Amino acid sequence: MRVLLLFLDGIGLGADDPSLNPFAAAQLPTLTELSGGYKWLHSTPRLSSERATFIPTDAQLGVPGRPQSATGQAAILTGRNVPAEIGEHYGPHPNDAIRAILAEGNLYTHLAARGKHSIRLDAHPPHYLAEIERGKRLRTAMQHAAYVADVPLTTLADLRANRALSADFLGDGWRDVLHIPDVPVHTPQAAGALLATLAKQHDFSLFSTWITDEIGHHRDLARGIAFLERFDAVMAGLLEAWDDSEGVIVITSDHGNLEDVSHRKHTENAVPTVLIGAGRHQIADQISALTDLTPALLRLFG
Ligand SMILES: [Zn+2]
Repeated sequence: MRVLLLFLDGIGLGADDPSLNPFAAAQLPTLTELSGGYKWLHSTPRLSSERATFIPTDAQLGVPGRPQSATGQAAILTGRNVPAEIGEHYGPHPNDAIRAILAEGNLYTHLAARGKHSIRLDAHPPHYLAEIERGKRLRTAMQHAAYVADVPLTTLADLRANRALSADFLGDGWRDVLHIPDVPVHTPQAAGALLATLAKQHDFSLFSTWITDEIGHHRDLARGIAFLERFDAVMAGLLEAWDDSEGVIVITSDHGNLEDVSHRKHTENAVPTVLIGAGRHQIADQISALTDLTPALLRLFG
């Protein structure tokens, strides 16, 4: 069994309003097919399509306030109700209490204890990694979970060698924004195929992108639409190359944001979890909140 977790920071299930929700406005044929012909909206119930199960997933976890990245990501990767344990939704970066919870055990450390190999598939720019090393930048909760399990963050060298992808999926941001020459720039089709190829080489692969959350904070509807349409095209390439009998793809998020560009803050909406592959039938019924993901994935690995 292999698992590929695609984590899109800050995507929730919002209103069917193309003026404020990129998920309502964008052309997303692949994502929509996964959810049985329905857009990824608040009104879409839990349902199964030919290849996938779509699960509106509770990110609130019984704690008042707007869900935040550190507690949400820690809940995803530990199965613990981290916001309830620390008494609030907290982020974007983890505090000492959240770091301690991640260090007590997370999906990466539990998989390592079962002899399973994990990898990150999203490359990090050199200046970003240098700032983490110098203590100038805090690790995200997802990065800290990997750190305490000795799973390295992937680098420019990994990107150049096609062992990782860029957070923008295609790599053009490294060339055009970071001005790093000689990085591969993929078509969406090729990026999706590369995700499939890499995920087949490891037991557990995690690809994380922060760009969805950033677009939401900037209230940029047009950019949100463009990024989701890019993701949709990448998913088409991934699904074409993915063998449903070999593994499960999980798409999920930590909290809402992008689905409502009427304000700059996170939302209290449920987030989409989408499970793809035959193994999903073993775990889909067990998932309704962020805290259910790690226990379900561990069950999948036996
Ligand atoms: Zn955010």
